[in-house]
Amino acid sequence: PALLARITELIRDVPDFPTPGVGFKDITPVLADAAAFSAVVAEMAARVDGPVDLVVGMEARGFMFAAPVAVALGAGFVPVRKAGKLPGPTVSREYSLEYGTATVELHPADIPAGSRVLVVDDVLATGGTAAATVELLEGCGAEVVGLTFLVDLEFLGGRARLHGRRVEALLGVS
Ligand code: IMP
Repeated sequence: PALLARITELIRDVPDFPTPGVGFKDITPVLADAAAFSAVVAEMAARVDGPVDLVVGMEARGFMFAAPVAVALGAGFVPVRKAGKLPGPTVSREYSLEYGTATVELHPADIPAGSRVLVVDDVLATGGTAAATVELLEGCGAEVVGLTFLVDLEFLGGRARLHGRRVEALLGVS
């Protein structure tokens, strides 16, 4: 409860970013606060069920939470990146956005078949990024043991796209 109150206090609401009409949650003040950042990482690591071999984080803010969670769990870290950033060989998955599409990629050589993988990102919005990431990982033969977010923008229904998965969020915004 103390952590929840502190995160709520630190996260900044930025109206009309990156485009008019969109309310953006700026999580950078959480990173800048030493006590809050380490408490968030510890809480994310504590919400996992069973052993984890790899933590996967999505570009770019997902990296900032996923990498320290990996260290806390004694797991490896694997980045999921936007198209064209990884030197390859890569596998990729296209998914739809409100306007247009986006593509996520990863290095399958870093995901041994049967790996138990935790997916970490800063914000769950529509769930498109997370769902595409799950599909990529399962296509590599990994087992996705859960997805953990700092913030769940509940009104966008992201959890529904991740049905059947263990989804954890430190803060839900309705
Ligand atoms: P989704 O695919 O619609 O769930 O969008 C999630 C992705 O967009 C995540 O990688 C987030 O980092 C980013 N994102 C969406 N909305 C926000 C926000 O309000 N604050 C920070 N990141 C956001």
